[in-house]
Amino acid sequence: MRMVRFIREGGKAMYLPDFNYYCPHSVQEACAILADLGAGAKVLAGGTDLLIKMKHELVVPKALVSLKNIRSLADIGYVEGKGLILGARCTHNDLVNSTLLHQRYLSVAEAAHQMANNQIRNIGTVGGNLVNAVPSADLPPILIALGAQVTLVGPGGERTLPLEQFFTGPGQTVIAHDEILTEVVIPDQSTTGSTYIKFGLRRSGALAVVGVAAAVTVVERVIREARIVLGAVAPTPIRAREAEERLVGNAVSTELLEEAGIRAATACKPISDIRASAEYRRDLVRVLTKRSLRRAIEQGHV
Ligand SMILES: Cc1cc2nc3c(=O)[nH]c(=O)nc-3n(C[C@H](O)[C@H](O)[C@H](O)COP(=O)(O)OP(=O)(O)OC[C@H]3O[C@@H](n4cnc5c(N)ncnc54)[C@H](O)[C@@H]3O)c2cc1C
Repeated sequence: MRMVRFIREGGKAMYLPDFNYYCPHSVQEACAILADLGAGAKVLAGGTDLLIKMKHELVVPKALVSLKNIRSLADIGYVEGKGLILGARCTHNDLVNSTLLHQRYLSVAEAAHQMANNQIRNIGTVGGNLVNAVPSADLPPILIALGAQVTLVGPGGERTLPLEQFFTGPGQTVIAHDEILTEVVIPDQSTTGSTYIKFGLRRSGALAVVGVAAAVTVVERVIREARIVLGAVAPTPIRAREAEERLVGNAVSTELLEEAGIRAATACKPISDIRASAEYRRDLVRVLTKRSLRRAIEQGHV
């Protein structure tokens, strides 16, 4: 009975449409296949977004190019002078369990831990979360707050850009159809604290109604640098720049954090949908900005 409901959801068969499957062993080989097959081919990582869209026939690729045999994309490492490197094929649970992240950017491991459920965290990847570009995705806000850069490799070579410039709209990014996102780099920085707070309608397995990330540099109670990134309240993750400007150069106080929250709420452009009204989201931004700033400030480390 359950099986029948599953394959007949909404009166439509839920089988995957036919496709060709490629499993290259290097990024160069994968890019060559993508270039050769044209826009009808798609990259497959964990498949937690793509396969669902295919079942619903929202996308019908003629071919899938899997990254599963490209082992170099699954590493987490640190390179002196460059920063902490997250391979695009790292799963969310790889982030949750990474000693390097625990030592340097616990906030990223915590953001990954707030995602989905254990099964999805075991197969969903960093690259998939970014390229899918859903406005409520959990990794972009904290990675942008930490100044992360992404590397895209295509048949013509490699380019690196700030993650902040990667998203262009819901489900839209600057990546070309024959490019692969290979890694995310969190550069070395003076940040003294960072955090991501997600508000979902359930404690687990829920998408963010609002997500707020903050990264700060605080010296002797004065805020030297601040980055605040809001998720799920605009077509892409956005920086709350006016709130950041209000903070920099000022001593930490409750009033200052409250003002930053109000400025962030003014800056966001939420919509009303099934999960929350625009008004409710805006008020959440005010409260969560204040809260995430306070947590980041109190950490005294990243
Ligand atoms: C039940 C459920 C709960 C979820 N909960 C959350 C949640 O709480 N928070 C959240 O943020 N997300 C959530 N998601 C969404 C999803 O799990 C994540 O976005 C995940 O990180 C996607 O990664 P993937 O490897 O499965 O991507 P895939 O489905 O394999 O790919 C997604 C897209 O990215 C492209 N792509 C993947 N990797 C690359 C690459 N390296 N280079 C170029 N293109 C690439 C694919 O072609 C495809 O277009 C949930 C999904 C499900 C099914």
